[in-house]
Amino acid sequence: MPILVHQFACLSDNYGFLAHDPVSGETACIDTPDADAYLREAAGRGWTITQIWNTHWHPDHAGGNLAIKAATGCTIVAPASEGERIAGIDRALVPGDTVMLGDVSADVIDVAGHTLGHIAFHLASEGIAFVGDSLFALGCGRMFEGTPAMMWAGLERLKVLPDKTVIYCAHEYTAANARFALSVDPDNPALRDFAAEVAAKRKNDQWTVPTRLDRERAANPFLRADDPVMQARMGFAGDTVATFAAIRRAKDNF
Ligand code: ZN
Ligand code: FE
Repeated sequence: MPILVHQFACLSDNYGFLAHDPVSGETACIDTPDADAYLREAAGRGWTITQIWNTHWHPDHAGGNLAIKAATGCTIVAPASEGERIAGIDRALVPGDTVMLGDVSADVIDVAGHTLGHIAFHLASEGIAFVGDSLFALGCGRMFEGTPAMMWAGLERLKVLPDKTVIYCAHEYTAANARFALSVDPDNPALRDFAAEVAAKRKNDQWTVPTRLDRERAANPFLRADDPVMQARMGFAGDTVATFAAIRRAKDNF
């Protein structure tokens, strides 16, 4: 039986995710932007929260840890290198580790850059990944702590996941990301189609998350930093990291 993912909006533009394994009955909170919302949404499904999986230390990702743990007695797994900034950790994760939801495993992937310890969770058997603030639909996280080389390496680890991988990113930023993407990659038909679809969805208040990896590979300018077309456009032919850095800088100033 597949893992069920329940997605809900919380705070101003975060998404909350509960991953539920119907076989074991286990339920994991993916990040904890808002403890009350998570407890309410789990109760509404009749699910009992048994775990919290944190992607990084930011308060809109780990701020609800202690309240959810106090209410449920769940265990918390989080990146080891951010352990001092994340409350209530039971198991500190390093890239390459595996976490289990019942009998379903998730691989811990290093996607540092937004923060130095940022991790993603890839459930290969389910074809889904929880990527926090590393990769967004048509965008990527702000590079608060890492370097362009580090952040590109992290995005590349996501880029090589299977085509149809469903990507759960933590914010609804897609409309603004699409406007920027079109400014740096205006002639990309995959991007133009994607951007039109995003505009139509947002007009009707529909979510653009989750997204899918093959579509991001074709349309997301940050994942295209290794493409000669993007490299030429940004003025860094043959240099993937410099191209990525230039796109990130352009977005920061857009
Ligand atoms: Zn963040
Ligand atoms: Fe965030």
